[in-house]
Amino acid sequence: MVKFLDLAKQYSMLKPEIDEAISAVINESAFIGGKYVNVFERHFADYQQTAHCIGVANGTDAIEIALEALHLPAGSEILVPANTFIATSEAVTRCGHKVVFCDCDPETYTISIPDATKRITPDTHAIIPVHLYGHPCDMDKVLDLARRYKLTVIEDCAQAHGAVYKGRKVGGFGDIGTFSFYPGKNLGAYGDGGAIVTNDDGLAGKCRMIANHGRIDKYNHEFEGRNSRLDGIQAAILDVKLTRLDQWIHRRREIAEYYRRTLNNLPELTLPSVKDWAGHVWHLFVIRTAERDALQKHLAEHEIHTGVHYPIALPMLKAYSHLGREKSDLFACSIGSELLSLPMGEHLDDGELEIVVKEIKNYFTR
Ligand SMILES: *Cc1c(COP(=O)(O)O)cnc(C)c1O
Repeated sequence: MVKFLDLAKQYSMLKPEIDEAISAVINESAFIGGKYVNVFERHFADYQQTAHCIGVANGTDAIEIALEALHLPAGSEILVPANTFIATSEAVTRCGHKVVFCDCDPETYTISIPDATKRITPDTHAIIPVHLYGHPCDMDKVLDLARRYKLTVIEDCAQAHGAVYKGRKVGGFGDIGTFSFYPGKNLGAYGDGGAIVTNDDGLAGKCRMIANHGRIDKYNHEFEGRNSRLDGIQAAILDVKLTRLDQWIHRRREIAEYYRRTLNNLPELTLPSVKDWAGHVWHLFVIRTAERDALQKHLAEHEIHTGVHYPIALPMLKAYSHLGREKSDLFACSIGSELLSLPMGEHLDDGELEIVVKEIKNYFTR
């Protein structure tokens, strides 16, 4: 069997360190806030090359809190890619703003700047580039657009821990960046977790207060915030895993290179491409084929697990039917039936990769 994701195997490799980290938090009762959260926040800010990191409860809250801290005019239009996880757009609506779906670039699947430009109105105040699948967005173009139209930039980095754009890690290019530590992400907790990163001292302080009841100290609240905190156990676990992240990214890159080399002569497949300025971290390795369902079934019959990210583009969901874009003609909305995510991650050995490639070839030459 070739697994899509194998968190139990990852735990077995790190067990002594993880168990010790969890015990330490329990022995010290450092459950909320405290040393382990502070240490991880420092380490993760350094890793992402930003001045600040604020741990929060999950990646969706991270976007919501970032938007709240930015204090955009009520009802602002915010540019969001049509092909992302719903959390990105959900946060926009929850903060009282309007989602404006944009098409994606056909090569990288990240937000299309020409398409986003067309959708700008006097009410557009922000853009949320999503570094989808681990491929960074073209941040020079995003920032150029943002400067021209005075847009705030919120980077959704939930799939892109460690991803690099022109030599620098993502998260610190825009005004604020958000991360998820959902267990299946490249850096995942043992439960929910998330983080906000920024180089802006004022925004960092604001986010920290919003996430912790608008507190300045225990029973002194400057405003009404909410409760969205990264807990000590998750922080301690993440701090152990962060020491392995570069090694895991290195393995993901080897796997991607292997897939790209060995699958490259199948005309029925569109393989993912990588821009020369991109340090891709391969959260997902997404291919496209008109025969997606049959190929996925063939692989499943040979015990090879795959995924689809995402089968229904956001504008086509019932949740967004009120926007009247069900029959959207966007490229991003036309590929849901073609996308297939192959097994990817440090849990895979070379033998398993050979099996995946062999069965894909068998399917197309049957
Ligand atoms: C996972 C994900 C999120 C949400 O993160 P949670 O921690 O699950 O709330 C947001 N955006 C993208 C692109 C994601 O992949």
